[in-house]
Amino acid sequence: MSSKYLAKQVQDLKPSGIRKFFDLASKMENVVSLGVGEPDFVTPWNVIEASYHSLEQGYTAYTANAGLLELREAITDYLDEYFSVSYNAEDQVLVTVGASQAIDIALRALLNPGDEVIIVEPCFVAYSSAVILAGGVPVTVSATSDNAFKVTAEQIEAAVTDKTKAIVLCSPNNPTGAVLNAQELSEISEVLCKHDIIAISDEIYAELSYDEKATSLAEVKGMKERTILISGFSKSFAMTGWRLGYAAGPTEIIQAMTKIHQYTIMCAPTMAQHGALEALRNGRDSVNDMTTSYRQRRNFVVKALNEMGLSCHLPGGAFYVFPSIKATGMTSEEFAEKLLEEEQVAVVPGNVFGESGEGYIRCSYATSIKQLDEAMKRMSRFVEKHIQ
Ligand code: PMP
Repeated sequence: MSSKYLAKQVQDLKPSGIRKFFDLASKMENVVSLGVGEPDFVTPWNVIEASYHSLEQGYTAYTANAGLLELREAITDYLDEYFSVSYNAEDQVLVTVGASQAIDIALRALLNPGDEVIIVEPCFVAYSSAVILAGGVPVTVSATSDNAFKVTAEQIEAAVTDKTKAIVLCSPNNPTGAVLNAQELSEISEVLCKHDIIAISDEIYAELSYDEKATSLAEVKGMKERTILISGFSKSFAMTGWRLGYAAGPTEIIQAMTKIHQYTIMCAPTMAQHGALEALRNGRDSVNDMTTSYRQRRNFVVKALNEMGLSCHLPGGAFYVFPSIKATGMTSEEFAEKLLEEEQVAVVPGNVFGESGEGYIRCSYATSIKQLDEAMKRMSRFVEKHIQ
């Protein structure tokens, strides 16, 4: 659709391919959805209570632009304890409206028109659009299944030009669940340091790592000075609707981001900040319980998919599996559409996460084992019918 009123770069943005399937699925009955990228758990009760107690106590006004200092201190304590990376709560942390806003303003703070940003696909659908809206140019690199969907330092190096300003990395990854280990991150960091590239490291799924503890890019030698660590409460604490995330990084960059935040958002919602404070102080057991449950579900789904003939890596983190559907001869879109039509199972076609996602589908296992069992039975029937 073209309009004389709308900005060109907005008109050119494609709507997210995920929505299309939700819209289709929402009009059907008896659908088992593996489409949604959010926890099926409700936010831990102590977090909910802390938030409404804050309202009872009259905390209904703005906070500091960067967020409650107490919350920023809890975030720096957490980052220190979990990743051994230390930040100054006063000027190196910004509380944002979800990790989404942190990604947006990190890019806006960094990019001049025409600056290139390396994006590793398949990836979260927002990255490329956020780069374009910030005036930058996304340059994509494909993480492929022959390397378990992990991008290599060589691939990144090959994408660097004299216009490269930044890279967006996401580990554990949405949609593949791939986790970059310390060695792989260290190899990547050498390329980033060599070419003076800033890393926007989306670590929102860090706590949802099932085989070994995730490494933060900021922990890697030489990287803290050039990394904007982005995380939030949506995934690990089951708080998607609270819209709370944060960025931690070099003072200069966080202060620039805070300027944009100050003029566009003012501050993240106060009651959500009080909830997040409680989540960091007393939420560990809930995260551990949810992680245990996700691990069981992951193992169950990966086994079922491989058994039905859809080859699938064991992802190290997040709550997605990314099986190949190439054995059916269908495109990702055809597979997802037919599966919804014939068996009422909603999955997301892999190509919505970038061209290299073609031939795959994303299934979220953030739903009960009962639902997953039903979905796997239906999918198995479907695959048996269509496999070539
Ligand atoms: N990064 C990744 C990789 C995601 O998958 C998502 C949500 N699907 C986000 C960021 C956005 O998270 P938030 O709810 O904190 O904005």
